[in-house]
Amino acid sequence: MAAPLVCATCRKAIAAGATYVRCSVASCNTGRQKLVFCNAKCWQAHVPTARHRKAAYVEENGA
Ligand SMILES: [Zn+2]
Ligand SMILES: [Zn+2]
Repeated sequence: MAAPLVCATCRKAIAAGATYVRCSVASCNTGRQKLVFCNAKCWQAHVPTARHRKAAYVEENGA
């Protein structure tokens, strides 16, 4: 069993099998805590706090 995913902005749990959003910036996807978001709105809230110059989001389907 994988560890449950939690939205980095609103801390809501992302249900298994739900579609979630991931930051395209490499530093947000390396290390122990990979950042995931429950939707694009939460990802947008993350961008200014992370000071990304260029950012996009990637939709993932949690199988
Ligand atoms: Zn969220
Ligand atoms: Zn990011």
